[in-house]
Order: sequence, then C-alpha cells, then structure tokens
Amino acid sequence: MNATMPDYDALLSGHLDALRAEGRYRHFLTLQRQAGAFPRALRADGRPVTVWCSNDYLGMGQHAKVQEAMIAAIREDGCGAGGTRNISGTGRHHVALEAELASLHGKEAALVFNSGFTANEAALSTLATLLGATILSDADNHASMIAGIRNGRGPKRIFRHNDVAHLAELLAGLPPEAPKVVAFESVYSMDGDIAPIRAIADLARRHGALTYIDEVHAVGLYGPGGAGVAARDGVEIDVVEGTLGKAYGVGGGYVSGSRVLIDAIRSFAPGFIFSTTVTPAVAAGALASVRHLRASDTERAAHQERARATRAALRGEGLPVLEAPSHIVPVMVNDAVLCRQASEMLLEEHGVYIQPINFPTVPRGLERLRITPTPLHGDADIAHLAGAMSAVWDRLGLARQKRAA
Ligand code: PLP
Repeated sequence: MNATMPDYDALLSGHLDALRAEGRYRHFLTLQRQAGAFPRALRADGRPVTVWCSNDYLGMGQHAKVQEAMIAAIREDGCGAGGTRNISGTGRHHVALEAELASLHGKEAALVFNSGFTANEAALSTLATLLGATILSDADNHASMIAGIRNGRGPKRIFRHNDVAHLAELLAGLPPEAPKVVAFESVYSMDGDIAPIRAIADLARRHGALTYIDEVHAVGLYGPGGAGVAARDGVEIDVVEGTLGKAYGVGGGYVSGSRVLIDAIRSFAPGFIFSTTVTPAVAAGALASVRHLRASDTERAAHQERARATRAALRGEGLPVLEAPSHIVPVMVNDAVLCRQASEMLLEEHGVYIQPINFPTVPRGLERLRITPTPLHGDADIAHLAGAMSAVWDRLGLARQKRAA
C-alpha cells in the first residue's frame, strides 16, 4: 500500500505563521564579536553595533587569561574531548575545573556538563527518579529546570514565584518522611529579582527537603569569589547549579554538592553519560575564568556600578525600567509587535543591539527589552543608549514613567 505523504512542511509552516502573526517569530542577528572591542561588534554587512544584551556579563569571553588558556589547551591537548566522560573524554582540565568549582561553592564535588540547561535537566530528573522525590518548583523556574522535573516523571508542586507562604503550605501538605526537593533560582534573569533564599532554605530544612538552587545568573557576579547569592547571604544550599557560559564567558554548565549526590548524577544521568563532554579548551578556559574571578573583585564591583548608572540614565529619560536588585535592567514594552519594532529601530537607526524578549520567555503582555550592562560599557555608551531609547519611545508612542528627579 502506498500511503499518501502528508505535507510535513505545510504542517510546520502553519506553526511558524502563527508565531509571525503574533509578532514573536524569532529573528537572529548575525554578529561578529570582536575580541578586544567588546561590547562593540560587527553586523554581517560590516556595520558596527554596541551590544547591550549579552550574557557575557563581565566580558570574560575576551579576557586575556581565558584566551591564553584556551589557545594553550588546543595546542597541548588538541581540539575535541575524544568522547563522553566514560569513553575517553575525562581530561586533566575537566578534573581540575570540577575541583575548582567544588571549592568555589564549598562542596565536596562538582560535575561539568555541556551546558547549564543540560546540568539542570540531568540533575533534577535524576534526583527525582533516584530519590522518588516530590519536586517543589518556583513558578518562574527556567525551562531547563522544568525539563528536568518533567523528565523525572515524579510528583511535583509549583509554588507561586518567591512566595514562601505558598511553599510552606505545599510542604505542609506532604508526608513528613517523603523525600522532597525544593528547586528555585537566585537571580531570575528576566525580571532581575532575587529569591528570598534564606527563608526558602530554612523552611525546606524544617520539612526535611533537599535544596537545589540555579545560580546561573549569579555565579561569578555575586558573593565571595563569585560563589553566588546564597554564598553572599551565608545560606547553605545542598545543590548549587551554574553555567560557565555567562559571567565566566566560555560555555558549559555544572552542579556541585555532596560527593554521593554528584556521584549519583554522574552514574545515572543520561544527559551526562551519553554526551561527548566539553572540549579541553572550553574546560581550560572556564577554569582560568573561574580562578580569575575568585581572586578579583574588580569586575564584579564595576558590573554593579555600570548597572546602577544605566538604570539611572534610563530612568532619567522616564523609560519604564523594572525595579530590580540585580544587574539586569528590563525596560517594559508590554506588546510583542512594538517590542520587536523598538528593537529593530534601535539597531537600524542607532546601532544599539537589544534583542526583544517575548512569550514564552516572559508571559504575554510583559514583553520587554532586557538590558545587560557590563564593566566594558562606558559613560558615552550609556548616554547614547538612553538617548536612542528615548527617541524610539517617542517614535513609537510607548508609555513612559514619571521622569526620575
Ligand atoms: N538556568 C537559567 C536560569 C538560565 O537562564 C539559563 C540560560 O539562559 C540556563 C539555566 C541554561 O544555561 P546555559 O545557557 O549554560 O545552557
């Protein structure tokens, strides 16, 4: 029998057309990043732009120590890792990086993954499966944590974002002896708000729950040596997850915790076992970056100062900046189509690159431009950004806040 071939492209195009109709089709901008000139970059046609939306928060992606470590690793170890960690992929740089990360977080062990996404997916799914644990998850947790919880196929409870009373209610409804994991983030990357880490950890402890924190937007940036917000606040968390691709400027992710917990993830998580590990150069570069940021507070201090200066300049123009206690500066547009238009105007008319943030990354109606100042943005860059955004706000008739005094 000859089956009729469905028109697969037409089926998929229907979904893409729906995205276009809502104004949230994803356009990528091809950039040539320029080592030594960050946050300046070149567009495909050679036009220069200033990047205001990079998660290379400290510019470590072009730091001389990181570059040299990566180049040296390629010269000495070659390019690829050679396999999964089981099959010939465990190299000296991986082992040294894991020891450094464990020490950074004051843990017995750490495990490196290809990305922060994989680290969350692998760790949470494995903990849920092996422990038969109920996962209590903040409603705003990242897609990678949700993927891990879903793949763990165990029971879950979602607590309202940063709502400790709701978490208490949910914990009280579970049998005291049942294994539980409370999973949350420190810095939430879209609003820039910070979890009540101490209150969550105290509550979890009282209910015998394991604590799991995603510090992806905080490692390298907060706390002693860049150990994160929990460390800054002196709160003990059982599992700390992070990325090597944002403040550390390279790529890869990790979890850190007790020796047994890390050994269990290493031994059971498919996302770890069955994937060729990060290259020696990535491990060596990340190690250099982590070591540098453990020894130097200069970048962290400058980062916070630049974020404050950017916030103040945008507020000075009456732009609707979301209040936040972190380095992330969201400016609200609240409409997918206008958000894209604002982003395009900034790019085409002012050489300012800020990617629009639309659903599902943020809820519908809360579309925004998410600005990430770095220590490498100068006063002139900030003034140019504020002027450009103000002009775009006028052109599009977007809502303003009362101008800051
Ligand atoms: N967790 C959070 C909160 C994130 O925002 C991200 C990435 O944006 C990840 C995890 C994944 O990290 P990575 O980019 O290293 O995969």
